[in-house]
Amino acid sequence: MIKTPGEIARLGAVMFVGAHPDDELMNAGGILAAAVRNGQRVRTLSATHGEAGARPGWPKDIIGDIRTQEQAASMAVLGIKDQVWLNYHDGFLADTDGMDALAQLGRAVNDFRPDTILTFGPDGLTGHPDHRTISRWVGELESKANVYWIVVEPEQYEQLRAADEAINIFFKIKQPPLVPSEKCAIDFKLTPELTDLKRKAFEAVPSQYERLFETKPFARPGEALARECFVKATK
Ligand SMILES: [Zn+2]
Repeated sequence: MIKTPGEIARLGAVMFVGAHPDDELMNAGGILAAAVRNGQRVRTLSATHGEAGARPGWPKDIIGDIRTQEQAASMAVLGIKDQVWLNYHDGFLADTDGMDALAQLGRAVNDFRPDTILTFGPDGLTGHPDHRTISRWVGELESKANVYWIVVEPEQYEQLRAADEAINIFFKIKQPPLVPSEKCAIDFKLTPELTDLKRKAFEAVPSQYERLFETKPFARPGEALARECFVKATK
């Protein structure tokens, strides 16, 4: 099992494949930042610009641009320089032409040649249909990379619960499927330095996270933010 920043090196070149800007920050920000510090190649991909993530009163036509800029700022905090967009519509990945998506995603993966792909499992973690579609696309890719799926550890979920109750993180489902630590391939507890960095990266995304930081576990760094768990999907 991979638990420490040094052990993250075993993942080699790492690519995160997500649906929305911030999927990688929430679920793998510490792992990716540790990989950058280890000198590993890191690429993140977001299929959409997250334009459905507008809050009441926000002008809907510019939220995609705002989130694109916030993403650049938050990736800069983590030290990630390679960000790819597929430019699909937020909320509609399931209705996207699958052949076109697989071709685009395939190109982004093949020209990076990752050893590891981090992404959503078939459950989509939060039940979001975009996340579930991303998981399906990655499953259909022809790639030699090892694929890992995001999971939540039961203890970690206890810490997330207050945030979930406040802002409904797992918005389509009551709670995510929980996987105990011993079944995880990666159970990464961020160092205080990486936790602080991840928190700063969240602070670069005010359009989505102002309210999150008012909720209890996020008001104190070092708890819910500071653990990232994955199971291995490939053999
Ligand atoms: Zn998402």
